[in-house]
Amino acid sequence: MAIKEFKTESKRLLDMMANSIYTNTDIFLRELISNASDALDKRHILSLTDTSITNDDPKIHIDVNKADRTITISDNGIGMDKKELEDNLGTIARSGSFEFKQELDEKSEADIIGQFGVGFYSAFMVADNVEVVSRKVNENKAARWTSDMNGYEITSAEKDDYGTTITLHIKKNTKEKKYDKYLESNEIQMLVKKYSDFIRYPIEMMVESYDYKEDGKSEKVNKLETVNSMQPIWKKNKKDIKAEDYENYYMQEYYDYAKPLKTIHYKVEGNTSYTALLFIPSQRPFNYYTNDYKLGLKLYSRGVFIKDEAKEIVSDYFRFIRGVVDSDDLSLNISREILQQDYQMNALKKSVDKKIKSTLENMLEKDRENYEKFFDAFGSQLKYGCYDGFGVNKDVLIDLIMFKSSKEDKYVTLKEYVANMKKGQKEIYYAAGESIEKIRQLPQMEKVLDKGYEVLFFTDSVDEFLTSIIMEYDGKQFKSILKGDLDLDSKEEKDELEKKSEESKDLIEKIKEILKDKVSDVRLSTRLKTYPVCLVSDDNLSIEMEKILKQMNQEGVKANKILEINPDHELFKALKKLNDDNGDISDYAMLLYDQALLMAGLELDDPAQYAIKVSELMLKALK
Ligand code: ADP
Ligand code: MG
Repeated sequence: MAIKEFKTESKRLLDMMANSIYTNTDIFLRELISNASDALDKRHILSLTDTSITNDDPKIHIDVNKADRTITISDNGIGMDKKELEDNLGTIARSGSFEFKQELDEKSEADIIGQFGVGFYSAFMVADNVEVVSRKVNENKAARWTSDMNGYEITSAEKDDYGTTITLHIKKNTKEKKYDKYLESNEIQMLVKKYSDFIRYPIEMMVESYDYKEDGKSEKVNKLETVNSMQPIWKKNKKDIKAEDYENYYMQEYYDYAKPLKTIHYKVEGNTSYTALLFIPSQRPFNYYTNDYKLGLKLYSRGVFIKDEAKEIVSDYFRFIRGVVDSDDLSLNISREILQQDYQMNALKKSVDKKIKSTLENMLEKDRENYEKFFDAFGSQLKYGCYDGFGVNKDVLIDLIMFKSSKEDKYVTLKEYVANMKKGQKEIYYAAGESIEKIRQLPQMEKVLDKGYEVLFFTDSVDEFLTSIIMEYDGKQFKSILKGDLDLDSKEEKDELEKKSEESKDLIEKIKEILKDKVSDVRLSTRLKTYPVCLVSDDNLSIEMEKILKQMNQEGVKANKILEINPDHELFKALKKLNDDNGDISDYAMLLYDQALLMAGLELDDPAQYAIKVSELMLKALK
């Protein structure tokens, strides 16, 4: 029979395969094994309705022949006749070819091959010559399809059993790529384990092992063994799995020495059918915030491994989740209909996200202790998720977020905070700082706590940025007790302050003049109790945000600082007297400002000058 040419699209795909030395060529084996598995499925399904079709001992056999430079993959599945060889292998994609063609134009080849696989033609990534001998069930004759990539030929053949045998003539090593490894049976066995471990049929091959003799000596022998484990843990019945089975699987798979905090094993049936086994780790991986951290979600399709780090099926804000999603519908041949694929991936992602969210909500409600452990490890991730993209996902995540609060230093959700607000309290109070201890020491804290308000501790660098994006919760604005005017005072207190400001007008103006390059305003305040001064910012950028931006090398961005003075403090009273007596207050004004800087956790403008001034004062006092 004459040599035929491949159709244009097939040619393009073949070219892509032949030249794909930089992509993952290992996956050819997965493709051929899953075709064999499909063929076994088909034979099985037919046997259910057609009694003339038997279904005995379904299996896949792999032979590696180093001397001949071949790998053979055989199955006793449905098989193909001449016409089917022509239709199935002579041309790609009966349906959906248009979309696939477009995809070829738009996506990089690595994307296509690595992510979805491209079926039978991937054999040409590692072989320069492929032979397929097939005998369809209940047919007497077999047929042979051979190709060297330039064209193909179909001839008659002899074959004892039903099914298909595919022989790959492995390419010679080149400078860029070593193909010889595919002639090592250890390597092939490893690839079967990696990509096809959960294929439901046994995959047999000769495996090197050692026979131990009575005298203690061993002998290398080859044994026919089933190399795949066939059933993955997530496909097992839940009631047959012990807690420790899950834990062992998790710890082995993700190299974690701690048990998972939560295991989520579930099955969804319907438009998007899939099984998932997901884990929430109990601790943050040491490299979680580095580029080295790998997303721990694997995608399988009916037991066939498709890809690691499947970020298409979970939202980034849940990137701490590990586990597998095994889809029933996402068969590999869908690669030919990628539009549908994208739709399916999105549906999967929605469903997986929803499950993770409801699991977390449930933990928060019913298992607070573990939820707090989870939050200690991954709470920042949820906050970043809320903040990211100008808050597009805030509604999904906001109720999963907690902050430590001044009431007992415990975590509270925003819902809990709002429910506990004091009568007449309109805003959600927070204070940002490096640690709870440091925030508690801030001069501004005392009065607010005295008045019985609860204050959220923002100790995570993202916290204040987050509230600047989400602005409010349940109609209540976020308000920093370190910023602007708190408006906590009664009418009488306000009148009193106004009176004192009027009396000290001259002094305040002088201090303002002395500090005019440092602060935008100087004013008396009722905010303070024990301390003489504090620094606050206006309602825009806060002092804490300035520090964080500085760490991020954005030196130029500065908070607008205001020096607030406690009019009831003895120091202020003494200063007023000195000023009224025409004394020089400039050193004292500077020292007040420096104190405020130190308490706000900011660096002094001139530490040496500060030390000199303090020493002079000490000397005066000691004399
Ligand atoms: P897909 O598996 O996505 O349909 P492939 O390129 O992998 O695409 O295979 C093309 C077609 O060739 C299959 O749909 C199937 O009909 C046929 N085929 C491939 N391998 C076998 C096999 N081992 N036994 C029977 N049919 C096969
Ligand atoms: Mg296939």
